[in-house]
Amino acid sequence: MTTTDESTTGTHTPLHGKVALVTGGSRGIGAATALRLAREGADVAVTYVNGEQAAEEVVRAAQALGRRAVALRADSADPDEAAGAVERAVETLGGLDVLVNNAGVGVLGPLEGLALADVDRVLAVNVRGVFLASQAAAGRMRAGGRIITIGSCMAQRVPGPGGTLYATSKSALIGLTKALARELSPRGITANIVHPGPIDTDMNPADGPYASGQAAMTALGRFGTADEVAATVAYLAGAEYVTGAEFAVDGGHAA
Ligand code: NDP
Repeated sequence: MTTTDESTTGTHTPLHGKVALVTGGSRGIGAATALRLAREGADVAVTYVNGEQAAEEVVRAAQALGRRAVALRADSADPDEAAGAVERAVETLGGLDVLVNNAGVGVLGPLEGLALADVDRVLAVNVRGVFLASQAAAGRMRAGGRIITIGSCMAQRVPGPGGTLYATSKSALIGLTKALARELSPRGITANIVHPGPIDTDMNPADGPYASGQAAMTALGRFGTADEVAATVAYLAGAEYVTGAEFAVDGGHAA
């Protein structure tokens, strides 16, 4: 008897024939998302800044699933590179159906200790880079396009001091998402935002010094995994009647 692996043939995968760009796809939530989308049939481009080797591993894993894949060095803090990554993905993979705005940086600390350089850096990556990539993607997406942005539980509930800058940046993405949903719906493009809770990644390791406090702030009492966030992103990549919506994947952090 011959068996057929749907993950490699792509014949019955929901995202078969789609092209996805995941910013910050070399590690953590972005890498898990890129591979989840690839498993569901999408060809994928991932951006990175320093993690070339890790990004190439993601590419190889996606290729092993039978997908086309490419790693692009593109710093979301640089306006030309943030928008340029979209153009490079389109050129390399022949179009764009799904943009996942995942790249982000976190700077936490007392308000009075935040330098202008911190403010500029966090807003450049977390807000301006997302805006510019979305703007570029909207200009290139085919009907049925999906813009999915990674926000944060800190945009919905700030559980203690030290989050002014990061919460400011992630809250801005809620407004952007809703406005994109209104503006792009006539073209059949949806925009949604996913708010992860504490997720075990390099940015926020589950064995880090503040981990137990964060886990205790969730209703489920634990960190989440990058795969658990990726599953919701993949759902949104295929969803039809969903736009302008916020999805908490936070173990009940906002409850
Ligand atoms: P990681 O720090 O583990 O990974 C970050 C990824 O983004 C890496 O691939 C990194 O690339 C890339 N990256 C960082 N800066 C830039 C930049 N300027 N331009 C392009 N790519 C960049 O982060 P997470 O996976 O934890 O976080 C992903 C997203 O989820 C972020 O937006 C974060 O704010 C959000 N989030 C995370 C939570 C958590 O608990 N982990 C909770 C809530 C939200 P490279 O390898 O080259 O450095």
